[in-house]
This record gives sequence, structure tokens and C-alpha cells, in this order.
Amino acid sequence: MAGSGSAHLRGDDALLSVQDLVVEYPTDAGTVQAVSKISFDVLPGETLGIVGESGCGKSTTGRAVLRLDRITAGHIRFGAEWIEQADGKRMRKLRREMQMIFQDPVASLNPRRSVKDIVVEGLAVTNVPKEERATTSASVLEQVGLSGPRFADVLPRQLSGGQAQRVAIARALALNPRLLICDEPVSALDVSVQAQILNLIEDLKSEFDLTVVFIAHDLGVVRTVSDNVMIMYLGKVCEFGDAIEVYGNPAHPYTRALLDSVPLTDPEKGFAGPALEGDVPSPLAPPSGCRFRTRCPRAQERCAAQEPEMREIASGQFVACHFPLVGEPAGTDVADRAPVLV
Ligand code: ADP
Repeated sequence: MAGSGSAHLRGDDALLSVQDLVVEYPTDAGTVQAVSKISFDVLPGETLGIVGESGCGKSTTGRAVLRLDRITAGHIRFGAEWIEQADGKRMRKLRREMQMIFQDPVASLNPRRSVKDIVVEGLAVTNVPKEERATTSASVLEQVGLSGPRFADVLPRQLSGGQAQRVAIARALALNPRLLICDEPVSALDVSVQAQILNLIEDLKSEFDLTVVFIAHDLGVVRTVSDNVMIMYLGKVCEFGDAIEVYGNPAHPYTRALLDSVPLTDPEKGFAGPALEGDVPSPLAPPSGCRFRTRCPRAQERCAAQEPEMREIASGQFVACHFPLVGEPAGTDVADRAPVLV
């Protein structure tokens, strides 16, 4: 079922396969082209990082996989099942296996329920017998580092941001999902807490045998957790590939610009390269050809006339660019610009 721009799809082994996904939102001002024919897949046990500036369609992609928004076109396979046409009843069942955690943990938790009850209530949709739910809740809360009565009976507003995110993670994992979609899960947290939550997700990933999609606007955050990364710009995939390759040898000028705009570890050094100029154009009327061309230092006539197809530029690294960067590795500092996992 693979269509155009899907050279990087790896076939039936993937747990999640998204093919030619289009999501458009009709508004009074016109049609917002939030996601425009993107394809990617995630193998079992893998973490895919999805990165791009705000408004590039990352959340829409995550929500589309769970069918939380209406899909305009495209195909989504989860396990052995094509789910783009699955009805509401089937999706409610499938969403136990595909859990999502969000940027604002406090807002995602019921403010009137205690921590313990939030997790217990989540279990209502599972086969866990009623009398076992409190035990399961306590056990999963312990796994996320919130053990004991000290936490069980408190309300979400009494928790720090990091603790609230731990509760949201516990509630998701209590359902024993196969796929966890993390939508900017650390963006609202202090830098010191970010590393703790990233560590936690990494630990739980192996304990729970999880496959993870990790969405972030910050390349630094995604690097530490991702096997593969997918760089999105204005509803399109620019680059997809092995995280080490993409971070070490970014091929798309947009990936390079994103890497250059991450602050260096040594604050005195500032940034690795020039800042990205201008804003992302309106998704109501994206530029013709390559959507990044209006901000791209390498753009030429062809970029306006013809949309670049995704092609393999190095083993396991794919880029949609007519004039990709070759042999211009990122500086060594780039590799160090991330919260340190311990
Ligand atoms: P990101 O997660 O990369 O910040 P989003 O997926 O949230 O991007 O949004 C992609 C684009 O779709 C943005 O231009 C956003 O304003 C628009 N968008 C998202 N949801 C809606 C909606 N419900 N109605 C109209 N436009 C939307």
C-alpha cells in the first residue's frame, strides 16, 4: 500500500505504519493543511522521535494515529490491522493498546480525583477485575516512582509538574499498551526534571516492552531517546533516519538549521550556526514545490517548481530535498546538547 514519498518504509514488520496520511482542517479562512501526505513506520521496541517547529503537524500526526481527529486521507496500520476505517467501538478498544501522554500533565488529569483513583479509573476499560484494580494502581505508581500513601491520596494540583507527568505515565502504562505516543511530555517541565522523566520513559520502555513515538520541538530532547528521527516542516517529512546519522550528518537544510539553533552546552559559545529566519508560512497556503524553500539558504528555481521526493542518501537515512547537504557533518558540540541521561 506504500505510495509516493515512502521509500523509507520498512514493510510488514513495523508495529505502526502510516502511509500517505493527510489531515486537513476546514476553517472560515480556508483549509488548514496540517499534515500533507506523510509516511513513516516504527518497528516493535523502537523509539521514533518526531521533531519540527511549532505548527509543523506533529501533534496532528500523533492524534491521527489514535484517530482522535478526522483523517482526510491515508492509511494507518497498527499490528496486523488497518485502522483508518475502524469504527468508534473498535478504536476505543485499540486505544488501550495505543496510549498517549501530553505536554500539560496537570490539565490531563481529573482535578477532583486522587492519584490512586485516577489510575484505578483508567483500569475500568480493561479486563483487570475490580478487586485487583487498587493493587495494580499501587504497583504501577510504584514503578513510576510514586509509591506509598503519601502520593496515593493527593490531588493533581498538589503535585509538581514532574510528579503529575509520572501519574499520567502510570495511568497510561496501567493499561499495558504496546504503543506509547508522547506529545511534548517534558516541554513544560524544568530542565532538571526533564532528564528524570526521559530516564523514566527509557526504563519503562524495556520493562513494559513498549514501542514509542516521541514528539518534541527540541532536537536535543529527542536525541537521547530516539532510535530514528523524523523531521517535519509545514505538514511534510523533510528527513527520516537513524538518529545518529541524522544528528551527525543532517542532510536537509531544515534539519541543519534546527540543529544549529539548539543552544550549545557551553552558554558562552551561544549557538552553533545562524538562526532560522522568518516564521513558518501559513498552512492555509503552503509554498509550491518544497515547502521549506522560502526560508532555505540553498533554494533554487527547481525547489519552487517541483516537490522533492523522499530518497535514500545514506544507509538508513532519507531526505526530501533537491540539494541536500553532503559531507558537511554537524559540529561535535551538537551531540552534547541534550539533557543528560544517567
Ligand atoms: P505541532 O504539533 O507541530 O505544533 P499541530 O499538529 O498542532 O502542530 O498543528 C499543525 C497545524 O494545524 C497548525 O497550523 C495548527 O494551527 C493547525 N491546527 C491544529 N489543529 C487544528 C484544528 N482543530 N483546527 C484548525 N487548525 C488546526
